[in-house]
Amino acid sequence: MFENLQNKLDKAFKTLKGQGRITEINVAATIKEVRRALTDADVNYKVAKDVTDRVKQKALDRKVLIAVEPGQLFVKIVQEELTELMGTEAKQINLKGDPAVILIAGLQGSGKTTFSGKLAAYIKKQGKNVLLVAADIYRPAAIDQLKVLGEQVGVEVFSEPENKNAVSIVTNALAHAKRTNKKVVIVDTAGRLAVDEAMMQEIENVKKALNPTETLFVVDSMTGQDAVNTAKTFNERLDFDGVVLTKLDGDSRGGAALSIRAVVNKPIKFMSTGEKMDALDIFYPDRMASRILGMGDVISLVERAQQAFDDDEARRINAKMRKNQFDFNDFLSQLQQIKKMGNIKDLLGMIPGMGKMVKDLDLDNQSFAPIEAIISSMTPKERERPDIIDTSRKKRIAAGSGTDLQQVTNLLKQFDEMRKMMKKMNNMQASGKMPKMMR
Ligand code: GDP
Repeated sequence: MFENLQNKLDKAFKTLKGQGRITEINVAATIKEVRRALTDADVNYKVAKDVTDRVKQKALDRKVLIAVEPGQLFVKIVQEELTELMGTEAKQINLKGDPAVILIAGLQGSGKTTFSGKLAAYIKKQGKNVLLVAADIYRPAAIDQLKVLGEQVGVEVFSEPENKNAVSIVTNALAHAKRTNKKVVIVDTAGRLAVDEAMMQEIENVKKALNPTETLFVVDSMTGQDAVNTAKTFNERLDFDGVVLTKLDGDSRGGAALSIRAVVNKPIKFMSTGEKMDALDIFYPDRMASRILGMGDVISLVERAQQAFDDDEARRINAKMRKNQFDFNDFLSQLQQIKKMGNIKDLLGMIPGMGKMVKDLDLDNQSFAPIEAIISSMTPKERERPDIIDTSRKKRIAAGSGTDLQQVTNLLKQFDEMRKMMKKMNNMQASGKMPKMMR
C-alpha cells in the first residue's frame, strides 16, 4: 500500500538519521522532502503544506534538535500529524433506526456495488437482518451484479427491473423491508462516469425520500485528486456522513486517503482492499499513518488472524505441535487459513520493518501453489510421516504436482527443519529454559 510514498518518506527521514548532528538546516531540508513526498503522492498542495508546517512547529517545540533520538522523534511527529490529518479516530457507521437505512453514492466504477455487498456481509455478521436494494435504473447489469453478490453473502436483494423511477423503487424497498422485518437497508444507487446534474438531482431525490440514517460516499482511491474533487461536489449536494475508500490494494498513491478528510471534513469510515466480499476494513487513521511510515500495523494483522483462524483448529494444531506431531496435513491447513487472511505481501507489510524487505519481491498468494501441489501429491500416510518418502516417491510427487525433484526435496528439508525447531522449543518450554520473550 502506498509504496512510492513510503519510499520517499523513508528517504526524507534518512537525511536526518544519517546526520551526526541535527541542525535547523537539515530539519528544514527534511521537512521540504516530506512535503514533496506528499505532493508527489497527489496530496492536495495546501493540505501538504499545512501538515508539514505543523510538523516543523512541533519538531521545534519538542526540541528535536537536541533530542536523544531526533530521527525517531521526528518520525513520531509525522505519524501524529498524518493520523490527525486522516481523522484521528475510527468512526463507526450509525446503525440506529428500525430499519437503519444506508444510502451508497458515488461515481460509476468506484466500487459502490462491491462495497454494498461487503457492507451487507459485515452487518449480517453482527447478527442483523439486512436488505440490499438495487436502485440503479440505467444499468440492468448493475441489478444482476448486486443479486450475485447478495446470493454470495446470503442477503436478500430487492429490485424492480421494470421500474424506471428510483424514488419509487426505494420507497417500495423500504416498505418491503418493514414488512419482512429487516433491521438494516443498504441502497446501492446509480452512478455516472462523471458528475452530472441529472445524477445529482436523482440522488438528492432518493435521499429525501429515504431519509437515510447514514449516507456513504464511495470513492476509488486510485483517482487521487479527482477523488477529492468528486467528494467535494457530492458533499455539497448530499452532505454525506462518511467516505469509503476503495481499491487500496492497487497502486494508489495515497493522495485520496490523506487529503479527503481535510478537504470535505467528513470521516473515512471504511477501506476496501480487494474484490472479495471479506476485503473490507474499518479505517483507522493511526494504523494507516503507521503503515504509510513503514511502521507496520500489527493490530490489524492480529485482528485479521482472529477472523480467519478457526479457534478449534488452532487449538488442535497447537496440541499437535506440543506433542511434536505437526505434519503436512496441519501445515496445509495453516497455509489455507493464512491465505484467508488476505494478500500475503500486504500481510507481511503489516509487520514493522517487513514492508521494505518484501516490497521488491514478486510475492502473492499464488506463490503457495507449488507447495500446496506437492503436499496434495503425497499420500495421507506420507503427509503424516514425511520421513518415509524416498527418492523414487519424491520423483513421483514431483511429477504429480508439476514441480521438480529439487523443489520437493527442498520442501521436505525445510519441513524437517521446522519440526526440529518446534521440538527444540517444546523441550525448552518443558525444562523452563524458554526465554521470557519467546514464550
Ligand atoms: P460501481 O459501478 O461503483 O458499482 O463499481 P463496482 O462495484 O462494479 O466496481 C467496479 C470494479 O472495481 C469491479 O470490477 C470491482 O470488482 C472492482 N473493485 C471494487 N472494489 C475494489 C477493491 O477494493 N479493490 C479492487 N482491486 N477492485 C475493486
